[in-house]
Order: sequence, then C-alpha cells, then structure tokens
Amino acid sequence: MSTSQNYLCLKNGTVINADSEQQTDVLIQGRKIVQVEPNLTPPSHARVVDCTGKLIFPGMIDPHTHMGIPIKNGWSADDFESGTRAALKAGVTTILDFTILEPGQSLSESIVVRRKLAEKSHTSVGFHCNITRFEKSLLDEIPELIKQGIMSFKVFTTYEEAGMYLTYKQIKKVALVIAKHGGLLMVHAEDNDIIKAATAKYAGRNLIEPRYHALARPPEAELVAIQKLGEIHRQTGCPIYIVHLNTVSGLNAAKAAGLLVETCPQYLFFNDAVYDQPDGRMYVISPPLRKSEDQKALWAGLLNGQINTIGTDHCPFRLSDKPDGLSYEQIPNGMGGIETAFPIMLAEWLKAKWPLPRLVQLMSTHAARIFGLYPQKGVIQAGSDADVVIVDPNLKKVLTPDDLGDRDAWNGYLGLEAVWPG
Ligand SMILES: [Zn+2]
Repeated sequence: MSTSQNYLCLKNGTVINADSEQQTDVLIQGRKIVQVEPNLTPPSHARVVDCTGKLIFPGMIDPHTHMGIPIKNGWSADDFESGTRAALKAGVTTILDFTILEPGQSLSESIVVRRKLAEKSHTSVGFHCNITRFEKSLLDEIPELIKQGIMSFKVFTTYEEAGMYLTYKQIKKVALVIAKHGGLLMVHAEDNDIIKAATAKYAGRNLIEPRYHALARPPEAELVAIQKLGEIHRQTGCPIYIVHLNTVSGLNAAKAAGLLVETCPQYLFFNDAVYDQPDGRMYVISPPLRKSEDQKALWAGLLNGQINTIGTDHCPFRLSDKPDGLSYEQIPNGMGGIETAFPIMLAEWLKAKWPLPRLVQLMSTHAARIFGLYPQKGVIQAGSDADVVIVDPNLKKVLTPDDLGDRDAWNGYLGLEAVWPG
C-alpha cells in the first residue's frame, strides 16, 4: 500500500525524453512516475530533491547482454548479480539478456533456467530466446512464447563448430513463424561460408597474434549475411534486428533492406589497431573490431538515424581468462562494457553538443519500443516506471579502475572521459 510517504519529487531538472528536452518537475510515487509538470506542488510529505542544473533521463535499456556465460574453466566475469549492479551504477535500469539452449532442452525450459539465474539481478531483466537448433518442436513453441511476452528470438548465421548455426533456409522458416505471430527475429549476421573459407588459412597453426581473429572473420561476412537476411525480410515480412552491426557496408545494406540495426560501444570507440597492442587479446570479440572508416560510418549512423539502438554485447572476462600465448582460436570471445557504456557515450555527446534526445532514443526509447516495453520503460511520463537517471553534466572525469568497483572484469575503456549518474 502506498502512502504519501512514498512520494519523491525531483524539482527543476531538465528531463530528456526521446522527443523533448524540458525543464520540469517529476513526481514519483513508489515505483511509478505519477506526474511530470513544471512547478508542481508535491504532497506535503514528499521527499523533495533539488535537481537544478541536472539532467534527468529515462533509465537506459541495454538490449544485448550475456551475464554468467559458461566457458572452458568456469564462468565469464559477470553473473546477473555483479553485472546488473555495475549496470545500475552506470544508468542502466533494464537489461535484455539471452537464453542458452542446451542439448535436449525446449525453448521454454531454456527460459526457465536463465530466469532463475537472473533472480538476483539489481535491474529489470527480460530475455530474448536463442534458437540455436532447427527442430520442428522448437518452432512449435514460438506462438505460445510470444503470447507469454517473449517476443524476440535470436538465430546465428555462423558458429557451425559450436552447434549454433542455422542455414538461411532454416532461418527463413523460423522467420515465417515469428512473422505470423507478431514477434521479432534478431540475427548474429556473419556468413558461415565466408568465415569458414577465411578461417581455413589460419586455423590450426597455433597463431597467437590476436589480429588473426579479425582476419579469420572478414567484414564481407557481415555484408553477405545481411543481404541474405534482407531477402528473408522481404519474403516473410518478419521484422529483423541485426545485433552488433559493425561495418559500413553492412550498415548500408541493412538500411536498404529495411532491417533494424544495433551497434555496440566497442565498435564505435575502437578499431582493429588495438589487436597489435600488448592487451590486444582482451579485444578478441565476435564479430571482430573493424577499420576506422567503419567507426566513422557507425558514429554517423547514430546521428542520422540509420542505427536504432546501442547494446553492449556485455560478456566480460578477466585478464586471466585470456592469458598471453593462447592461439587466437582459443581466446574466449567477448568483452564487457555495460558498466561504462552510458557514461562514455554521454561524455561524447556532451562534448560534441549533439542533441540529447537522440542519445535517449539510441540507449533507451528505441529498445523499449522494439522489444515491447514502451511506455512502461523508455520514457519519463506519468504512468511509466520510475526508472530515472540523474546526471550532473559538469561532472566529467577520466575513467580509472576506481570507477569499476570490486569486480575483476577487464574493461577496455579506461582513459576515456565519462559522465556518471548520481
Ligand atoms: Zn552477443
């Protein structure tokens, strides 16, 4: 039961929504926003916080995380507890993670397992459902799952060796079912044949330089996969969302085909030059980092509307998980970033004086709309969840290890400027 004691009034802040920037007050009761209006009179027992000079954002939504991933000798560096704790400190109030389909499991069983692991989370958590095997019984589950609110399904055009690959023909069949029932198809778009051909040149030679990882997964793999997926979108009408897009050619092909596009901070801030750094192995991720032309196109895509969302693909490792001297094929793929994504993006945005509503679109509102969370999430308005992030735009600082707390996850963004909530 709520009483007037539950009221919180944020006075005189600048509220940044996807389509507006307005100096106003925000009244919160319990876990809901109840009123957004300039000069409102809060109930007499409300706690009032002066937000003059502060920016107030809807909570960030990270549409792409991988918490608690099993690797050869244990687990990736963040489970749901540590990862969402770090996320919350950095302004992320909702994450959308992925199920892991084990052999013999049904889709609904895979969801139950991940939901259980997510119980200790500090943010809201939703799931996309991975379909990493093509079986009729799995496809038959899709309509019921969509009814239950799991509306996004992810497939891979590669990772044949890991048993996660679906052919384009199979993906088209999945897309038909999803389209019929109003869901969304997410795709890891790297063409399997191109990767296989490129990998054949380097595999099994115990090459330890991380740059071979990029050579074995060339940018054409993304372009070709996206062209095929554009065709599937045209034939099935299924909305298709390309995760972690990272090349200029892929971006242009995706937009020409009407696909939704996500990119990640790592593809914006880094290029393949980092593979020649002493810690280059820590940046071994799939897809790999690309060229500076690609980075430029992605930044432009954020501003011109080509890119719909920013997700982190958060899957951090410790230095000890990627020891020196491993063959590039043995280095666990993935890096973290949920703990710094919004602070570093906001610092860039403020420095460039780009419109803040665009950043809200990219890091909150679009994900809320695409994944069916809007207007509960992704906006500051009466009736929405009280997921608000308060930032003093003048508190810019250079990222140091102290900002990362007690986690042992390696972070590649140290030395960049960041603006933290709180
Ligand atoms: Zn991912």
